[in-house]
Parts: sequence; C-alpha cells; structure tokens
Amino acid sequence: MNKQLRKAVIAGNWKMNNTRFETKALIEELIPKVKDADCGVVVCVPFTDLETAVNLTKGTNIKVGAQNCHFEAKGAFTGEISASMLTEMGVEYVVIGHSERRQYFGETDATVNKRVKAAVDAGLTVILCVGEMLVDRENGVTDELVAMQTKIALGGVSKEKLSQIIIAYEPVWAIGTGKTATADQANEVCAVIRATVEKLYDKVAADALTIQYGGSMNAGNAAELLSKPDVDGGLIGGASLKAPDFAAIVEAASK
Ligand code: PEP
Repeated sequence: MNKQLRKAVIAGNWKMNNTRFETKALIEELIPKVKDADCGVVVCVPFTDLETAVNLTKGTNIKVGAQNCHFEAKGAFTGEISASMLTEMGVEYVVIGHSERRQYFGETDATVNKRVKAAVDAGLTVILCVGEMLVDRENGVTDELVAMQTKIALGGVSKEKLSQIIIAYEPVWAIGTGKTATADQANEVCAVIRATVEKLYDKVAADALTIQYGGSMNAGNAAELLSKPDVDGGLIGGASLKAPDFAAIVEAASK
C-alpha cells in the first residue's frame, strides 16, 4: 500500500450468502470491530440484504455495495437491477465483472464496460474485477490479458470518473480455492494494471487509483500482500463472512 498516494480499501464480497437475519447479526458484530479502521471498509451484499445493510451501517464507517448492476436504466430486463435503484437505496459501491459473473452468467468484457459506465454515471463507486484463469498464467499471457480486460472495461470512462473506480486484481485460480497469489505475483500484476491506466489516462490518475488484490486473502496472509506498494487493499470472499477474520484484514490494512 502507498497511503500517501491513495486510499486503501478492504471490501467484503459476500456472494450468495446471508439472509437478512444473518446480515443483521454479521454487521452488528462487525461495526465495533472496524470502527477505528484507517482504510475504507465496504461490504458487498446480496440485493435482498442491501436495505438492511444500509440501515444498519448509517453513521458508521462501513459502506455498502451491491455485487452487480445492469447497464440499462430501466425496461424489460427481468431479474435485473439498475444502478439508480441502488443509489436511491443509499448503496455507494458495486462490484462489476467478478469472475463468477464472467464464468457462470455470460459476462463479457463488453458488458462489463457497459455496466461500469452506467454505474459511474449513476454516482456509484465501481469495484472492477479483472484477472486471469490458470491456463492464461500457464501460457504466460497474464499481463496482456489483464491489461486488455482493464482497457476494455474502462473504454469511455473519463478521467474525472476514474476517481469512482477501484480495480480488483483477482486471479481466477485463487478465488475460493485457498490458493493465494504470492505477494510478489499480486504486486506484479497490480503494477501492470497501474501502468495500463497510466497509458490510458496519465501518471497522476494511475497513482491515485486504488488497486485491490482478491483471491483467498485472509487474516494470515493479508499483511504480507498489503505490504506491497501496488496492492492497495483487498476484495475478500470467504473471509468476509466471519467478522473476526474480516476485521483482522481491515486491521492489517490500517497499519
Ligand atoms: C472473491 O469472491 O472476490 C474472492 C476473492 O473470494 P475468496 O476470498 O473466497 O477467494
């Protein structure tokens, strides 16, 4: 992390976990544990838990995010949620392009780009996920692939709107597998993303961009990952479902 240049953010991605009742219990446990955090703290919860999460976190340092939104403002898109539906509820963040959406729900770089633009236009801060599959890493194309995903996702996003973007580097082979990228591997790809953003915009914009690592980050490995200069936080799946574990990662990012 380089806190002189940019904000560290730890975000939990709850995925399809927690009913409203469970959300209340987890957030109530989390609030006192992260209240003194010296980093941004975000919980990205299922759509059905958003209202509960927004109400419970009012007046705290925890921000609430959704895990996706559609790119159209309204219309015949059964089962979808628009960006303005989220902002009207008090939601401030949204995860876009998570690898599970890309793998299981037909998300492409092109639709990620449309969602990113719709979300920032509505005033949301986007946590944009990029990352390679194991086969890409084995073929030695990680840097090119992640640079391409970044470039396409940010197409048409102005320099001003870039301040509403966080990029999460999430190697797909490390998500939910218990296999973490080494701190050097994570830093190397985060640096590639930053260099890509510098080429697209400029050095000031790239230096100010928060780039998270995600992929089996936990209380045990967070400090080492976060000690790297280009790793500005984490997007946390499994470990965000237990308040003490998530709080320990927040504490590591607060040092
Ligand atoms: C994620 O869902 O973005 C993630 C990184 O999951 P996990 O921490 O469980 O690997």
